[in-house]
Amino acid sequence: MEEVLTNPKLGYYINRDVFGADGDFITSPEVSQMFGEMIGVWAMCLWEQMGRPSKVNLVELGPGRGTLLADFLRGVSKFKNFTDSLHIHMVECSPTLQKLQYRNLKCVTEDSADGNEKKGINSTITVSPVSWHASLEQVPTGLPTIIVAHEFFDALPLHQFQKASRGWCEKMVDVTENSSFRFVLSPQPTPATLYLMKRCKWADSEEIFKLDHIEVCPKAMDLTQEISKRIGIDGGGALIIDYGLNGVVSNSLQAIRKHKFVDILDNPGSADLSAYVDFAAIRHSAEEVSGVSVHGPMTQSQFLGSLGINFRVEALLENCTEEQAESIRTGYWRLVGEGEAPFWEGPDNQTPIGMGTRYMAMAIVMCLLCSVVFPCHVLIINEMLISICEEENVKNIIVRIKNKK
Ligand code: SAH
Repeated sequence: MEEVLTNPKLGYYINRDVFGADGDFITSPEVSQMFGEMIGVWAMCLWEQMGRPSKVNLVELGPGRGTLLADFLRGVSKFKNFTDSLHIHMVECSPTLQKLQYRNLKCVTEDSADGNEKKGINSTITVSPVSWHASLEQVPTGLPTIIVAHEFFDALPLHQFQKASRGWCEKMVDVTENSSFRFVLSPQPTPATLYLMKRCKWADSEEIFKLDHIEVCPKAMDLTQEISKRIGIDGGGALIIDYGLNGVVSNSLQAIRKHKFVDILDNPGSADLSAYVDFAAIRHSAEEVSGVSVHGPMTQSQFLGSLGINFRVEALLENCTEEQAESIRTGYWRLVGEGEAPFWEGPDNQTPIGMGTRYMAMAIVMCLLCSVVFPCHVLIINEMLISICEEENVKNIIVRIKNKK
């Protein structure tokens, strides 16, 4: 799965823009600007709760086109104390997407003041420094950190186990005599079996007993611990939003090409592979690290609702044409309505299906901070809502509608 998605030459994400109507699938930030704006509200509440530190690392894992962060920054741009503190770090494996992110964050490259070789890159939306990294490990430590991972965990490689007469066996990919792929069961325990054992210890025996497949994602478990350790030491919090379950995931691995499910082994590298995120495993992995507390998961609909998306949508609707209003309302319902995941949009699927219940949000925050998933700074939120419905943002909606056409 890792090779198929991120191989530096042929990986699915490496050479193409996969998002939107012309791509393979669509994500919440691409559905509506309100998504990134609400994440901005969440992050600013967290910054407030941290005591308004003067420098903060803002890290996005897997930023796609960079749309979420562009909307986030535009939304908070009026709050100078917050934006002045931001050092933005994009964790992205795809050079093609890095270029798109550079463009969407309206970045400029400047020679450094001391004349040394290293050039500085700044997003002109908020005049914040931006840098790119291949992994979280490469992001400098030592500053309070806000991490956002939207639809990142679902792309991490998972291992599937199947119940057989000899016990749980890992499903492996084999090459047949005529050079096609097929699934086989491992003859003996594999390294991922250790993670299966760990995962099963966290579950009820009844929950495991009724399953004949189990998925475990060692990378997700390890990454959660890396995030938690960083937050426990440097302070701050992480927000993970993805589609998934709050329990053991059985058999969810899927391939999507041009908004349609296809066979997982069909032409690997030409379709997106993703799987449901096991939020319970993320919670248990984080709870093994001292100094952090975990909040959620809650549904995307509850999460966006508690951040005030209803007020935001009304503010936008007051300042737009009938045509824009239609798009704003549709975007809103896609974000908070009910439905299956991943979000499905294609020529033969005219009815929009919501992302409000299958997508879930979870926060891992430094212990001293209270639950920022339920923000208590209503005042800031109101102030922010007023700020983000200014003319600049209305123009942004118009551009988004035009691009969609
Ligand atoms: N967050 C975006 C994109 C989600 S798609 C959105 O919601 O629209 C997954 C993103 O993670 C892509 O940008 C992909 O290139 C990146 N990605 C996937 N696996 C990665 C890895 N192992 N390391 C770094 N980036 C990765």
